[in-house]
Amino acid sequence: MILFKHSGDLESYLGKLRSAGLQIGFAPTMGALHPGHISLIERSKRETDVTVCSVYVNPVQFNNKDDFKAYPVNLEADILLLEQNGCDILFHPDEKDIYPDEESKNKHFAIGRLANIFEGKFRPGHFQGVCLVVEKLLDIVNPTHLFLGQKDYQQTLVIKKLVSLLHKNIRIIVCPTLRGESGLAMSSRNLRLSASGKELASELHKSLVYINDKIFFSDIVGLKKEVIANLESKGFKVDYLETATTGELEPVQSVEPKSSYIIVVAAYLGDVRLIDNLIITS
Ligand code: AMP
Repeated sequence: MILFKHSGDLESYLGKLRSAGLQIGFAPTMGALHPGHISLIERSKRETDVTVCSVYVNPVQFNNKDDFKAYPVNLEADILLLEQNGCDILFHPDEKDIYPDEESKNKHFAIGRLANIFEGKFRPGHFQGVCLVVEKLLDIVNPTHLFLGQKDYQQTLVIKKLVSLLHKNIRIIVCPTLRGESGLAMSSRNLRLSASGKELASELHKSLVYINDKIFFSDIVGLKKEVIANLESKGFKVDYLETATTGELEPVQSVEPKSSYIIVVAAYLGDVRLIDNLIITS
């Protein structure tokens, strides 16, 4: 694996590979890598010629400074994991490379409603920060394929919109959420949970499965109330739990078998904020 720290070096290296007709797969991450991240690398290796991973904790997508400071960093372990799994290139820039000045953090992206609901509502400015870094990274890497996790479902929709606004010709592949045995979605933030916290956190996924199993036979409003009350009785503080269309994340109060829906949830366990989702299957 080759480690690049400067965008200019990476840009010219990858530019040559693209001119030679190679397909470049890219998986942007914030590090503290786990098997969920590695599943994106593996998929890229299967579907493209060269796989690039970036590790950069993007300060501008954190609306909460304490969350940014507490975000786990483990570069040496990340390098080892990427090498063991055959990643070709790691891009690990410093902040000046991505944001040369304050001005470069001020651009606004016309994502619209999708950036202001659910995660966008509870984390104001979050998706604008995501768009800032993703635009930068896409300019540098210029990938043919972009690999994203369904774990961050709303983010996949926002990035699809961004890519179309930027008129970039990139194939976006959304990879399934990798879970532990308990059903807990793998996440870098799980590192901040105790063993008992991890056990409890698996209740989030169980709640989604419970809703999925009952949704076609129950009143959705009552079902959501029941599940939120159950989570809160176990110590969660729920930001949102909603059933919505998969396309535009429009909340729905009833479902029809032929359409496509998703259940999205975000909740705090102590000071750790967890998100998860499940596409409804009939
Ligand atoms: P992050 O480092 O959390 O910004 O995540 C980087 C990428 O990995 C995003 O596209 C995430 O959706 C994806 N990802 C994170 N956790 C998982 C998981 N458990 N399964 C699959 N993909 C994941």
